[in-house]
Amino acid sequence: AKNIGDDAVVVIGLGRFGKSLALELEGDGIEVLGIDTDPRVVQGLAGRLTHVVEADSTDAEALKQLSIQDFDRAVIAIGSSLEASVLTAFVLRSLDVSHIWAKATSESQAKTLEQIGVEHVVRPEHEMGRRTAHLVRGKMLDYIEFDDGYAIVKTRPPRGILGKTLAEAGVRSRWGVTIVGVKSRDEDFTYATPETVVEDGQLLIVSGDRRRVETFSNQD
Ligand code: ADP
Repeated sequence: AKNIGDDAVVVIGLGRFGKSLALELEGDGIEVLGIDTDPRVVQGLAGRLTHVVEADSTDAEALKQLSIQDFDRAVIAIGSSLEASVLTAFVLRSLDVSHIWAKATSESQAKTLEQIGVEHVVRPEHEMGRRTAHLVRGKMLDYIEFDDGYAIVKTRPPRGILGKTLAEAGVRSRWGVTIVGVKSRDEDFTYATPETVVEDGQLLIVSGDRRRVETFSNQD
């Protein structure tokens, strides 16, 4: 078996979320130790992850045997079982794993994991649902929101700003948003400056307060 390096990541639960995450890390050259109770799941990922083992992560002894205490980063990707995810979080905390991410499928699961001291709780269904709502209701093509109500979106330019420089159009003063980048078809994004003139058919990356960004991108 391959040896596993110091900066490897433990991924516990190799369902849809954990598997995608583990394979993405490996694709980026980061070693993964994958753990799952289901032998078929383990079998399916053998050879695609640096290490993949069948074990029950709620069993502290089993995790010690796997030297989980030597890892800095772990992801708990067990959404379907609240009990297993919470118990696993307890075990990882007691083994002093420094940085723990956990997937939660409900708000109560998220709260519980936070109370145990899990540093990063992600709610993929909830977050993707909200994000998709922004794409469905308006003209945005992509939408990322940060904790403090700040958003970055990809959108088509409103007609009112076409053919003028960003300074003339008064994007910042009138809408309170910043156009970060502009892209023409078949070209890469370039950083916008006050002299940038936006043309029909281009795409914009716009940042700012989430409501302002929304108002800006949804105007005609
Ligand atoms: P997704 O919604 O991302 O597919 P699931 O919650 O359905 O995620 O999948 C969870 C995975 O975690 C399953 O493959 C399951 O076998 C595994 N799992 C559940 N409990 C444990 C446990 N105690 N230890 C290790 N793996 C577990």
